[in-house]
Amino acid sequence: MEHNQLNNNKPYDVCIVGAGVAGATMAAYLGKHGKRVAIVERNLKERDVIIGELLQPGGVQYLQKMGLKFFLDDIDAQPVTGYDIILDGKDFVIPYPHQNGEPTGYGFRNGKFVRNMRKYILSLSNVTVIEGRVTELPEKNDDIQGVRFLAKGAEKEETIHAPLTIVSDGALSKFRDKLSKPDNKVTGFFLGILLKDCILPYPGHGHLVMGNHSPFVLYPVTSDFTRVLIDFPGEKPPKLDTGLKKYLTETFLPPMPQQVKPAFLNAVEEGNFKMFPNHRLPASPVLKMGAVLLGDSLNMRHPLTGGGMTAAFADVKNLGDNLLAIKDFQNRKQINTAVKKFYDTRHLGNQTINILADGLYGVVNNPGLRVAFFEYVNRGGKYADEPIAILAGINKDKKLLKKHFIGLASYGTKNKLKSAGIKEIGDTYGMVKAAVRIITPLLLSEKPDLATRVMLKTLIKGDTVISDINLRI
Ligand SMILES: Cc1cc2nc3c(=O)[nH]c(=O)nc-3n(C[C@H](O)[C@H](O)[C@H](O)COP(=O)(O)OP(=O)(O)OC[C@H]3O[C@@H](n4cnc5c(N)ncnc54)[C@H](O)[C@@H]3O)c2cc1C
Repeated sequence: MEHNQLNNNKPYDVCIVGAGVAGATMAAYLGKHGKRVAIVERNLKERDVIIGELLQPGGVQYLQKMGLKFFLDDIDAQPVTGYDIILDGKDFVIPYPHQNGEPTGYGFRNGKFVRNMRKYILSLSNVTVIEGRVTELPEKNDDIQGVRFLAKGAEKEETIHAPLTIVSDGALSKFRDKLSKPDNKVTGFFLGILLKDCILPYPGHGHLVMGNHSPFVLYPVTSDFTRVLIDFPGEKPPKLDTGLKKYLTETFLPPMPQQVKPAFLNAVEEGNFKMFPNHRLPASPVLKMGAVLLGDSLNMRHPLTGGGMTAAFADVKNLGDNLLAIKDFQNRKQINTAVKKFYDTRHLGNQTINILADGLYGVVNNPGLRVAFFEYVNRGGKYADEPIAILAGINKDKKLLKKHFIGLASYGTKNKLKSAGIKEIGDTYGMVKAAVRIITPLLLSEKPDLATRVMLKTLIKGDTVISDINLRI
C-alpha cells in the first residue's frame, strides 16, 4: 500500500498514532469533514490477525452514522443475524433486534476491513498517511507537541507537530502510561483457527459454545471460512506444539457442533494457529494538554462478546463530533475542552458493552451461573431480546443489564432450590455470591454515580442475600 509524503510545511489539525480499527476510522471521519490529518502506522501491509472479525449491529450503525459503512464493501463480509447459544449439546437461537430494516452484524477478515479504511484515507488529499513507527510523544511544559517517528526505511527520525495527537496504538500500547493510570490485566488468551468449508448449525450466526470446558465462539468471516476462537484462561499462553493438537482434539472436538467437526479436525491437523492475549483494561485517562487516548490503548474488555470495535466506533463518533464542533483548531483550550467532554461522556456509549463482556465471561466460566444463563435466556421474550440487544451494542441501558444479570442469578437460584437437596443449599448461596462478585467490580469501573458506588462497595464487602440485591438494584 502506497503512503503519502509528509509535508512539514503543511499545518495539521491532528496527528494520529496507529492506523488500526480506531485510528484509521478517526482519520476517515475527520478527513471526510475537511480536517488536516497526519497518521503514522508502523505497518501498512494487510494484516492477518484473529482480532476484530465480528462487528456487532451497534458498530455497523455507528459506521452508518459516520457515513463510513462502505468499509464493509467488497470484502466478502458475511451478514450475521443472531446467536446460537450452546450448552452441553443443547442449543437455542436468538435473533438480533430488527431496527430500521438493519438487524445485521457482519463477520469478515479484519485485515481486509482495515485495508478498506486505509485505502479510503489514502484517497483523501487532506490526510497524510505515513508508514513508520512512532517512537516518542515530544512534550513541552507538560503539553504534547505531536509525534516523533522513524519512517520505514529511513535512518533519521522526524517530527510532526499538531495541536492534538490521538494515540490509538492498540492493545499493546507503548504510550498509554503517559496518558492514563492503567490497571491492565491479561485475563487469558484466545487461540484462533480458521475452519475451511465449515457448515455452522445456523449459518449467518455467531455461536457461543459453553460446557465443562473453556468457552469458544464460532462465526463466519468469509463465504469459505469460519473463525473459531477458543479461550485459554490464565496468565501464560499455551505452547504452540504438538501437545496442543492433542489437547484441542481431546477437549474441544467432543463439544464442537456435529457439522463443524470435520472442518475442525482438518484445521487442527493443519496446525495454523494464532494466539492473542485477552485484556481487561478499564479506562482511566489523565487529562493532558495536546493528546488523547482512543481504542484499545484506552479501554479493553473480554472479546467473548465481540464488542471491542463497536466500543471503538462509539468513541470515534463521540470524540470526532466534539472535535468537528471546534471553530478554531489552533485554540488549544477548545481542544482540551473537547477531549475532556469525550472522557466525561464516553462511558454512556460503551459501559454496557464492557460490563456485559467481562460479566458474561465470568458467567460462562461458573458451572451454576452458565446453566442459569442458558435457562434464563432460553425463556425467550424479553429474557432473550433485551440481553441480545445489549450484546448487539444497540441497547445501552445499564439498569436493564443489571436487572438481567441479577435476574439470571435469582432465576438460577430458584431453580436450584426447587431441585436441591439439603447439601446443595450452600451451592445456591455460592451462586448468588459469585454473581455479585462478578458484576460489582465491573459496575464500579464504569463511572457509577455516588449512591451506586456506596451501595456496590457495601455489597462487595458484606455477604449479601438475594433479597438485598432485588431490593436495591
Ligand atoms: C482475540 C481477540 C478477538 C477479538 N475479536 C473481536 C471481535 O470479533 N469483534 C470486535 O468488535 N472486537 C474484537 N476484538 C477487539 C478489537 O479487535 C479491538 O477492540 C480493536 O481492534 C481496537 O482497535 P485499535 O485501533 O485500538 O487497535 P488495533 O486495531 O490493534 O490498531 C492499532 C494500530 O496501531 C499500530 N501501532 C502500534 N504501535 C505503533 C507505533 N508505535 N507507531 C505506529 N503505529 C503503531 C498497529 O500496527 C495497529 O495498526 C478482539 C480482541 C481480541 C484480543
